[in-house]
Amino acid sequence: MGKTDSIHSSDFIRQIIKEDLRTNKYNRVHTRFPPEPNGYLHIGHAKSICLNFSIAKEFGGLCNLRFDDTNPTKEQSEYIESIMKDVRWLGFDWEDRLFYASDYFDKLYDYAVQLIKDGNAYIDSLSAQEIREYRGTLTEAGRDSPYRNRSVEENLDLFKRMRAGEFEDGTCVLRAKIDMSSTNLNMRDPVMYRILHSTHHRTGDKWCIYPMYDFAHGQSDSIEGITHSLCTLEFEDHRLLYDWFIEQLKIHHSQQIEFARLNISHTILSKRKLLQLVEEKYVNGWNDPRMPTISGLRRRGYTSEAIRDFCERIGVAKTYTVVDIALLEHCIREDLNLRAPRVMAVLRPLKLVIDNYPENKVEELDAVNNPEDDSMGTRKIPFSRVLYIERDDFQEEPQKKWFRLAPGREVRLKHAYIIKCERVIKDETGEVIELHCTYDPETKSGCAKAERKVKGTLHWVSAGHSIKAEIRLYDYLFLKSNPDDVEEGSDFKANLNPSSLETLTSCRIEPSLADAKSGTRYQFLRLGYFCVDIDSSDEKLIFNRTVSLRDTWAKIQKAQK
Ligand code: ATP
Ligand code: MG
Repeated sequence: MGKTDSIHSSDFIRQIIKEDLRTNKYNRVHTRFPPEPNGYLHIGHAKSICLNFSIAKEFGGLCNLRFDDTNPTKEQSEYIESIMKDVRWLGFDWEDRLFYASDYFDKLYDYAVQLIKDGNAYIDSLSAQEIREYRGTLTEAGRDSPYRNRSVEENLDLFKRMRAGEFEDGTCVLRAKIDMSSTNLNMRDPVMYRILHSTHHRTGDKWCIYPMYDFAHGQSDSIEGITHSLCTLEFEDHRLLYDWFIEQLKIHHSQQIEFARLNISHTILSKRKLLQLVEEKYVNGWNDPRMPTISGLRRRGYTSEAIRDFCERIGVAKTYTVVDIALLEHCIREDLNLRAPRVMAVLRPLKLVIDNYPENKVEELDAVNNPEDDSMGTRKIPFSRVLYIERDDFQEEPQKKWFRLAPGREVRLKHAYIIKCERVIKDETGEVIELHCTYDPETKSGCAKAERKVKGTLHWVSAGHSIKAEIRLYDYLFLKSNPDDVEEGSDFKANLNPSSLETLTSCRIEPSLADAKSGTRYQFLRLGYFCVDIDSSDEKLIFNRTVSLRDTWAKIQKAQK
């Protein structure tokens, strides 16, 4: 297989696929990403998307996007739109292969009829509760339903009447006739169809019976000619059932392969729980920058490249793991370090007056946009007598090893001069509200004479030229590494971090950012990476902090070496 030679990474899934091609089990590779449109995609889905689309590409195959829309009771069109947008944004293309499980309802119905005719399925009139009771447990065999031996004719007639709408929801179901004593509970006559008098977003009121996920999923793969059906481990026990359906129906066999789902520390990856956070307003919608959704990460400032890089680094395996969220942060830092222009912004401004700088003088100083990349050029930043520095960069009574500003101390202002703090002005409460300094004109950055060294360098903006902005700082949404670790009687929301969002409304940014377009990313010197929010406007500039500069992942790596 010449076309597989270029595949470097060889996880167990790629190994299996290579082997399947070698033995001619399949002579092509066709995967799919099958989201249920009942929520927005999260970073866990990104792992599956990257895996499916990348494998298809590496093996010269195809990858479909298929909506698993077998459950009509959940609102869906908003989710469908967002899912398509997110997959595209991540950089993948399903071309003309967009499918819906609901496209196969007719075919699935025919398959069900075929199974009834072959004596492999029956209509059960037990209640849902009774079916559960008859099912048995892991240690106890199930019991046959009294309706299990209905004749083929009776079953066909009842199934037709189920479809025709003659019965109320819950009166009967279609079940596969397999083995009520199987050690695999999924094989104990699983339900294939249930009655739901409910309008479906695509098929409208055409159907009042709907296939169960377990009856739809494997057959949908088969219908689309999927060769390798990659899914997460919780479906391992279902594989036997999927294979059974396919064998009985004598249709194309897709090979299911399971891998461990992605878990990340301090993070919830369950649509059901994320929906709860949205509905109960713990966050501001699915795309809240604190959410682990693709749309949340995008709004926060993550790039698709960083997310793909993350998915590649975590790899695929079968064992349960929790990935440290520091790795995800490391990936975005690494990406933005090279790409984001470095500018100056002050989060909590403290006024600083340079007493020996002329009143009306303005200097346009040169600043490099990114020392990692000369091609990003330079820009001018205005320097004047009145500036803002970071409140946290001044201590009246400095702690040990304090290299920032304090009375009588010197620091360098980035791209500008060395200044010395001469005098402090306080308000009636004793709070420092203004610093008076002097500057040394001989120390201008970039000039030969600027050699004099001081230990601290601060960022700053010119008060008269800077622009006001709102800056939103984010912390982990959950305090505990495992948000599901709670005491009995409470749930994951007990671990929500009450300070996950801090909104600063009187920040000042350098004037070059006046026209910053939503989605643009910057490094604010010494503060982190920031991204212009989608709600930002000319009237009100809003930035989200994507990630701080401190790289705990790099530290972990170093400690391990
Ligand atoms: P959730 O538990 O968040 O509701 P789900 O598995 O029900 O997720 P689906 O829409 O059914 O969501 O998932 C689509 C695909 O994404 C499936 O193939 C599923 O296995 C995969 N997937 C979902 N969550 C993860 C995860 N955390 N890691 C890897 N793959 C995942
Ligand atoms: Mg699901």
